Amino acid sequence: MRLLSAKNLSKAYYLQKDESCILALSNINFEIQKGEFVSIVGPSGCGKSTLLKLIAGFEQKSSGNLLFEDKEIKTPHGKRNYIPQDSGLFPWLNVEENVKLAINKKEDKEKKALECLEKVGLAKFAKAYIDELSGGMKQRVALARALAMESKLILLDEPFSALDELSREKIDRELLEFFAQNEMSTILVTHSIKEAIILSDRIFVMDTNPGYIIKMISVKKEKDSHYKESLYEEILSLFNNSSTF
Ligand code: ADP
Ligand code: MG
Repeated sequence: MRLLSAKNLSKAYYLQKDESCILALSNINFEIQKGEFVSIVGPSGCGKSTLLKLIAGFEQKSSGNLLFEDKEIKTPHGKRNYIPQDSGLFPWLNVEENVKLAINKKEDKEKKALECLEKVGLAKFAKAYIDELSGGMKQRVALARALAMESKLILLDEPFSALDELSREKIDRELLEFFAQNEMSTILVTHSIKEAIILSDRIFVMDTNPGYIIKMISVKKEKDSHYKESLYEEILSLFNNSSTF
């Protein structure tokens, strides 16, 4: 079932200082199905964050269509959950309180918050403060918030760039488990082609000036090391042929 679609989508930013425009995204077309995990890779400035912000409803498109559940996206909504690089949590609240904030008033907040924290393996840390957690744990609290909000689509903007390689591999495995158990769609912007291959059903490769999608690659479910290596080379060669790399 289709969850999100873009048709001839473009976004220009107006620069007040010299009254010029930057075309950040041009002629973007795709469909994303319910339950799909899509990664976006591409050079800096190719409009990856802009695309996520349009989907989140933080920015307005300039032309074309961007539909979520067949309705034009105009404003932010809890169903589309944007998780920034720093996780977007409140450091003056503890873990449980951060999750409770995402819950609808009519429900038993404490019970639901703990259930969501259990699903991300952090029930034991309910009373901990955000600054006491590792980068990976913060991202898991943000995912618990998304569960509490009953989000349908998670938007992750380079969430693990600040983590070291080992922590990153660990959280990649945890993410795989998380998304296998929860019916959520995800769009992940990442600098790591390897990470994109491990986690994704599809990879969108973007290029810049103006930002557009060069290729959408379907990733096989069974990923042996030979397959992963050849896909890695294929994506790298797309970058090598592009004007900006
Ligand atoms: P990426 O996330 O791929 O690095 P961005 O979406 O952040 O790319 O930026 C795409 C282009 O749009 C860049 O040229 C950037 O300078 C420009 N841009 C992004 N946000 C704004 C903004 N708020 N105002 C003006 N220009 C912007
Ligand atoms: Mg960005």
